[in-house]
Amino acid sequence: MSAPATLEASASLQPFNTFGVQANAQWLTTAANVDELREALSFAQAHNLPARILGGGSNVLLTDDLPVVLIRMTGRGIHCVAETAEHVIIEAEAGESWHPFVQHCLQQGWYGLENLSLIPGTVGASPVQNIGAYGVEIKDVFHSLTALDRQTGELVELTLEQCKFAYRDSVLKQQRERWVVLRVRFRLRKSAALQLGYGPIRQALEAEGCVEPTPQDVSQVVCQIRSSKLPDPTVLGNAGSFFKNPVVPVAQYEQLKALYPNVVAYPHEGEMKLAAGWLIDQAGWKGHREGDAGVHAQQALVLVNYGSAAGTDILALAEKIQADIQQRYGVSLEIEPNVWPN
Ligand code: FAD
Ligand code: NAP
Repeated sequence: MSAPATLEASASLQPFNTFGVQANAQWLTTAANVDELREALSFAQAHNLPARILGGGSNVLLTDDLPVVLIRMTGRGIHCVAETAEHVIIEAEAGESWHPFVQHCLQQGWYGLENLSLIPGTVGASPVQNIGAYGVEIKDVFHSLTALDRQTGELVELTLEQCKFAYRDSVLKQQRERWVVLRVRFRLRKSAALQLGYGPIRQALEAEGCVEPTPQDVSQVVCQIRSSKLPDPTVLGNAGSFFKNPVVPVAQYEQLKALYPNVVAYPHEGEMKLAAGWLIDQAGWKGHREGDAGVHAQQALVLVNYGSAAGTDILALAEKIQADIQQRYGVSLEIEPNVWPN
């Protein structure tokens, strides 16, 4: 068996995670196609090590070195694979960067991804946590994907139903040791069907004097809003929202509302989704800093690395916030990024 061509031992992952924290992978390699992926998985098996998949590293927190063979998915390519009068099915390889993919689709007149502009990471990771923003989730535009089933070694196609998408969740996330996504297919529209229900988008379009917005206009205002609130990971290390918005029973929400009349919450599948950022902000954590780990000054849901924080520093801060929110509001906050090496 030959070793993967790009294999590197004790590889620093600092350039490969948007928190910018330092940790080494025992082995790091890349896979641009299924043959390279199989080769990397065989190498891991031969060395009795777990294999793990990395995309753009924008949803991971590294708290220690990884005793694994880490495989970065690098396959590229975007194709239209089917077309009807109203829709196109667009297939993109796992290693395509998400935002340039969204922009490419808009340029081609393939619509539906505009609200998901400027999310970092790769196409291959997009279904893993069913990425979502501004009222749209991947599941709304998803057609199917091709994945390697590590249990059987077979390439399989997973449909929308099989992916079991939920709020920041999917079967790929639940069974992370099993699936490697190679390519994803999206069902996009040839004519615009804009999703403007999410308050700030409509307000921003109105402020621009945009009365008949195009999908490009929506993408542009989403980029503007995001850039004004969220730290750019190339400037200030972060992994986006650090906690999921907690979903609580209506009765619990009503108790909270009686105590905190301004609590921000939205109906979610018969329950209430609380804005975790509001809870953290109200508890006084916004802008808080401990060494080089901190809570972003514009968005309390985002934890940041001011420079030389270790993953453990960021995790320790997150745990303090979790304990405080539990104690104040009786609400438990679940960490959204993947904390590795767990
Ligand atoms: P990685 O961080 O590399 O990996 C994430 C997980 O997916 C890991 O478990 C990894 O093993 C797995 N994975 C990666 N590729 C594959 C593959 N090909 N096959 C199988 N498993 C794979 N998320 C949102 O949902 N909405 C947002 O609006 C949003 N905004 C963000 C803003 C900022 C500034 C940042 C830094 C992050 C934001 N995120 C957001 C989180 C993150 O960008 C997304 O979750 C993104 O999809 C992660 O992609 P990635 O390629 O970086 O994945
Ligand atoms: P925001 O607009 O300040 O809103 C705060 C929270 O309220 C959001 O988390 C959102 O939940 C919820 N919300 C607001 N308007 C809503 C509506 N009309 N219907 C239902 N829920 C509503 O949030 P933000 O932090 O600036 O983020 C904007 C969008 O980008 C959000 O969708 C957010 O999820 C997404 N985002 C995600 C990440 C990440 O890493 N996961 C990072 C940055 C931004 P939802 O989160 O469920 O939408």
